[in-house]
Amino acid sequence: MSEKNIVVIPGDGIGEEITSAAVRILNKIASKSNITLTFEKHLAGGAAIDAYGVPLPDSTIKAAKNADAVLLGAVGGPKWDSVPPEIRAEKAILGLRKELGLYANLRPIKVSEALIEFSPLKAAAISGVDILLVRELNGGIYYGAKNEAAMVNGVEQASDLEIYSAPEVRRIVTLACQAAKLRRNQVVSVDKANVLASSRLWRKVANETAKTFADVSLSHLYVDNCAMQLILAPKQFDVIVTNNLFGDILSDEAAVLTGSIGMLPSASIGDGTGLYEPIHGSAPDIAGLGLANPVGTILSAAMLLRYSLGAEQAANQIEQAVEQVLVEGYRTADLYKHGSTKVTTEEMAGLIEGKL
Ligand code: NAD
Repeated sequence: MSEKNIVVIPGDGIGEEITSAAVRILNKIASKSNITLTFEKHLAGGAAIDAYGVPLPDSTIKAAKNADAVLLGAVGGPKWDSVPPEIRAEKAILGLRKELGLYANLRPIKVSEALIEFSPLKAAAISGVDILLVRELNGGIYYGAKNEAAMVNGVEQASDLEIYSAPEVRRIVTLACQAAKLRRNQVVSVDKANVLASSRLWRKVANETAKTFADVSLSHLYVDNCAMQLILAPKQFDVIVTNNLFGDILSDEAAVLTGSIGMLPSASIGDGTGLYEPIHGSAPDIAGLGLANPVGTILSAAMLLRYSLGAEQAANQIEQAVEQVLVEGYRTADLYKHGSTKVTTEEMAGLIEGKL
């Protein structure tokens, strides 16, 4: 494999600690396989506001566009809460999604056997859950025409338009089917086709698209039923694909099934550079104290290897190393309980590195 350039954006709060941990793991896995990685650090969020007066400097956008992948910590914090809304730190994430044309958000929901007690579900229901939720990120009601609240016939009224085109549905369902081929070949498409015209188009195009994947089976669920099934029987799911609005809600519902926010990775994918980040924020309350759990970011680095560099084996090795360290009872402060061994952010990274 040729040399791959990774842009690292630590961001704010615990961002520096968790991205350093993930880079350490990427360096180790690269030294063990035929992958050559170079890293370039860039600013975004509050750190960029301090340095450049904007949350997403042009230099960061340019570097991200030219990179093979971007690894991001998290942005924002109380220091920048009172800046004008147009330069809020969190705008950096929306800006990167737009600039990189990221149309799919991938969230794996996998429960470590060692951490089952943290789930709000019973152990029997949650054990073995391994879901990939694929959310359309660039279309739908968040981007459709809006009518802000106004008086119509003497009544205050507002509206948002849910709009999808066939090509938008086709590309996200294609991506879900491709992802399913790396997993258990099952895709559930989630819509509200009994009520919404946009969902009926979604379902028709999903059926047409899945036919081109001989090994992949596609089924459909209404979003209300899917929300129930995620709690009642989450093990039934392999890949779930859905629109922007339903995905926003279902991905947070699915995330709490694991009970541990510091553990969950995500990927945002488009036609160019992919963006990889943990699902949590910048945790300013624990920044700089060695308390941050780096696993969500380390597993995001594994997704980077899988989806941007095609290095499936290296990704699997990182995921197995994380699981081994957890099974051995090592925990960062957020997951510490009597009987386990408490470790710092750096110690956790070192233990995972040691398994590779
Ligand atoms: P948060 O996710 O940062 O923190 C919520 C709680 O979880 C805190 O108690 C925190 O200490 C804990 N936590 C989060 N990640 C952890 C980790 N890796 N290890 C251990 N504990 C962890 O959410 P918040 O407090 O609502 O937001 C803080 C800042 O982050 C805000 O400025 C918010 O806008 C920003 N934010 C950024 C992103 C992003 O960059 N994608 C996402 C969400 C929030």
